[in-house]
Amino acid sequence: MEAKEKQKKKDKVGLGKAFASNFFLLGLAFQASPSRVIGQFAGNICSYARNLFFGIFFWEIIIKFVEEKASFADVIPFLIFTVLFNFLVVFYTSYFRNVTESVGNHRLYEKLHICMFEKAADVELACFENPEFYNKYMKAVTQIKGRAHTVLWVMGRFLTSLAALAVLVYKTVQIDPFAVLFAVFPMVSTYIIGKRINKVNYELYQENIFADRKKDYVKRSMYQQDYAKELRLSNGFVLLITEFKDAVRTVMQNTKKYGFRAGLLSCFSEGLSQVFVTAGSIFYASIRLLYFKNLQISDYIVLVNAIMQIADCLVKDAYLLGRIQDNHLYIQNIREFFNYKPAISESQSGKAVDRENLLLEMEHVSFSYFGQDQEVLKDINLSISKNEKIVLVGENGAGKTTLVKLLMRLYDPTEGRLTLNQTDVRDYAVGEYRGLFGTVFQDYRIFGLTVAENVLMRRMEEKDREMVIDALKNSGVYDKVMTLPNGIETMLTREFDPDGAVLSGGECQKIAIARVFAKDCGIAILDEPSSALDPIAEYKMHESLLKVCENKAVVFISHRLSSAVLADKIYMLEHGRIIESGSHRELMEKNGKYAEMFRFQAENYVEGEVS
Ligand code: ADP
Repeated sequence: MEAKEKQKKKDKVGLGKAFASNFFLLGLAFQASPSRVIGQFAGNICSYARNLFFGIFFWEIIIKFVEEKASFADVIPFLIFTVLFNFLVVFYTSYFRNVTESVGNHRLYEKLHICMFEKAADVELACFENPEFYNKYMKAVTQIKGRAHTVLWVMGRFLTSLAALAVLVYKTVQIDPFAVLFAVFPMVSTYIIGKRINKVNYELYQENIFADRKKDYVKRSMYQQDYAKELRLSNGFVLLITEFKDAVRTVMQNTKKYGFRAGLLSCFSEGLSQVFVTAGSIFYASIRLLYFKNLQISDYIVLVNAIMQIADCLVKDAYLLGRIQDNHLYIQNIREFFNYKPAISESQSGKAVDRENLLLEMEHVSFSYFGQDQEVLKDINLSISKNEKIVLVGENGAGKTTLVKLLMRLYDPTEGRLTLNQTDVRDYAVGEYRGLFGTVFQDYRIFGLTVAENVLMRRMEEKDREMVIDALKNSGVYDKVMTLPNGIETMLTREFDPDGAVLSGGECQKIAIARVFAKDCGIAILDEPSSALDPIAEYKMHESLLKVCENKAVVFISHRLSSAVLADKIYMLEHGRIIESGSHRELMEKNGKYAEMFRFQAENYVEGEVS
């Protein structure tokens, strides 16, 4: 019921709003590729000018030559002009179609998508957990290119046709103002029926959304590496193909149902308008020419052709108006996405960060994820000072990762605040504040780029080589990298290079850790960076990590306690609360939960290796 109400509201889109939306996307396209937009308008102007010339002016001038009994020599310059004009128009339109349009489309694609990616990178992480926002983003990404082309095509034709219409109406009114009426009726009927057709098309789009998403999901699952293993080892392939077939069948059934309705409406509208204009205008002008004899032959030809062209323009404009309104429904989505003001924006300006005196504090911080009532962190008080080594420990799900996400301002707390050097972190420039951290998350990602680019997360220059090598040595993966065909310039993953290296989980993790070593950061955050290692290797890795990060503060997350002994301070989390904090010695003396857990885990380690 509510969905129907929403649909009704959308159907009542005012023309003002519809034009504003179309101009918004036209403006965005112009920013992305001015030549593509200008080329589109120039192309439209050429084709309308050609129609006007050969439909009206050519006949008017030729008949005038005949009426004035001009010689062939008098007509030759006009004929040469006609041929040249035609040649130029044909030349430009084919040049536009093959060069300006096709090259411009790629530029448009690139620039529009970059605008979109920049916006997506700028919004806070919580947006990606908000299904409404995420749907909006997905829709905007999938629609922007197609919609930009439609808007260019529709607006280019509509605006140039208005100019052509002005010329045609002027010519008609000069001969017989009453005759204009023959052209107006079909426009009204086409506009009304056109709106119905748009509604039918939008209903079709709405009804297909779910099946279209399912089709896309199956497509993605079939070619993505992540799913390849599961699909081979289970019945997943057959299951997904069945889902795919069902989705295509649903889309086909919907298309048939709505296509039939749209087709009927379109036949009715076009038939009505054609008969009225053609028969009406010819009949009317013929009566004036032959019965009342108050019309010259040149005026007769101009009048009949002009009315047909006006009607043609109006019918097309009415259709285009419908498309403009139709565009609005889709652009709204893109517009809302672009106009969204992120609560934590990477580009947000603010105070500069003073790295000399580093004191990061959490004061009574509580937090719950988007759309959830339950608090994941409760009343957290914690401080990290310059070069301090901190370990967060606790069972899975205790809230450790969430806590570091808050430290980095990927989210803001629901209650309490974070301060850096006694200033609220919201007062700092977000980009600079986040630059303070070098982080490896548990679900780190390795990109289809070279080893060096994966470490630097930018293109490598010659001067960076040593730094990359040092970072790889410190994370303990350099020897492995040197066995790869192109050393640090070897591509990772086989996505873009058949010779790309596929590394083990532990090796990938070390590449990700090397990122932190190569980054000039004040605080290194490592979220279970050694989960792929055994406890002894983890301890050793932690030891070398602390050595490399001598001049950085380090926040290390682990649910294994073997590494905690080396930290200056340990925070133990349980169900989102800090239940104990202090050095290893202090906590062991306290003989609380930490000591109990440490002893329990230590029983599984080789005596003497960890303490
Ligand atoms: P830890 O790092 O200690 O294992 P997390 O911080 O990852 O714990 O998770 C703490 C709790 O928050 C868990 O119950 C988890 O299910 C929940 N959680 C984590 N991420 C999200 C998210 N993006 N949306 C909703 N709940 C989440």
